[in-house]
Amino acid sequence: MNENMLREYARLIIHIGVNLQKEQKLVIASPVECAFFARLLVSEAYEAGAGDVILNWRDDHCAREHWLHAEDSLFDNVYPWDALQKNTLAREGAAYIGISATDPENLRGVDPGRLRRWEVATGRDLKEFNRLQMNNGFPWCVVSIPIASWAGKVFPDRTDDEAMEMLWAEIFKAVRITNDGCAINDGGAIKDGDAVREWRDHCDRLKSRAKKLNDCNFKTLHYTNALGTDLTIEMPADHVWLAAEESAASGVPFIANMPTEEIFSAPRRDSANGVLVASKPLVRSGNIIDGIRLVFEQGRIIEAHAQVGEETLLAAINVDEGSHFLGEIALVPYDSPISRSGILFYNTLFDENASCHFAFGEAYPGCIRGGDKMSTEELIARGINAESSTHVDFMIGTKDLSIVGTTQDGRKVAIFENGNFAF
Ligand code: ZN
Ligand code: ZN
Repeated sequence: MNENMLREYARLIIHIGVNLQKEQKLVIASPVECAFFARLLVSEAYEAGAGDVILNWRDDHCAREHWLHAEDSLFDNVYPWDALQKNTLAREGAAYIGISATDPENLRGVDPGRLRRWEVATGRDLKEFNRLQMNNGFPWCVVSIPIASWAGKVFPDRTDDEAMEMLWAEIFKAVRITNDGCAINDGGAIKDGDAVREWRDHCDRLKSRAKKLNDCNFKTLHYTNALGTDLTIEMPADHVWLAAEESAASGVPFIANMPTEEIFSAPRRDSANGVLVASKPLVRSGNIIDGIRLVFEQGRIIEAHAQVGEETLLAAINVDEGSHFLGEIALVPYDSPISRSGILFYNTLFDENASCHFAFGEAYPGCIRGGDKMSTEELIARGINAESSTHVDFMIGTKDLSIVGTTQDGRKVAIFENGNFAF
């Protein structure tokens, strides 16, 4: 890690990630340990012409104390002023940057009932914010930088300093920032080179593959591997496979995740039949869930097991009716760069971009052509899982994963063979 790489990362997030526009407001959610990086983002944002930058600080220690000891009724309602802030800024089209860095087991031992009730409360009180985020009403970007408690889980055999350094190196690699030849110049504007150019090329590659999938217009997909996954799923009419860049309501393109390696869409809500076995642990609500096995019948999860953290898994699935159904289907080759690192990141931002995955809970409306402009009722009529206050990605990709698609006229096409795209 050096100063230039950090500055380039900050610029990349402001200019390519949320693609901040002049006079636009920016909200940054940051752990307190990452304050030095949040400050860099603030400076870059004002340099880009931000109208205002609002900081929401987070802290694992304080969060854990709150979850363990706060008065019980607090987990049923979002403070009205918090809801007002989030919903108002989302309606105004403010940009959101979330720095995702936390101890993966920070909330171990917290009552799963509290976790579930809080999901219900945020789903209800932040409905406007959540809806606008799901249908790209405002630009948002989730990124990461290391903190010691997280790095220590990723590299448990290393000293704190070594683990931090190694996690920095992996993150920079994943976001395509290299030490030599940073695109930093001394002027204000970012040069159109290196990380920025790399990102544009990367997005183009992902989009051309998404186009191939869209051209195939698959009716069903059949997943199998030796781990025990055996699932068929149907795609809705007018579904769209999306990748990399999306367009905010303002028409400005942004990238919601950095890194991003996935091509994703929304399946028919009522169509999954069979078994999905997770290939990586999942970190959810400050707990590790491992050994997940889900059984589906007509789209609904009818059995859910985990070898570790089953209570947390069940709390996540039982948030509402919609959380019992799949809302996202995402393809990531086993050979993708993050997967090739062989590292388990204990952070969904990285782990989902190293593996084919699904999400249970709400679908992204944009996965149906014109869906961003449709009401919940219209989206439901189109067959996708359009109503849930949650969205939980879980990884199922393996080295031997096979996915066979069936086209509208009954032709079988290999989509994945041995964990990678077959075309
Ligand atoms: Zn995804
Ligand atoms: Zn997702």
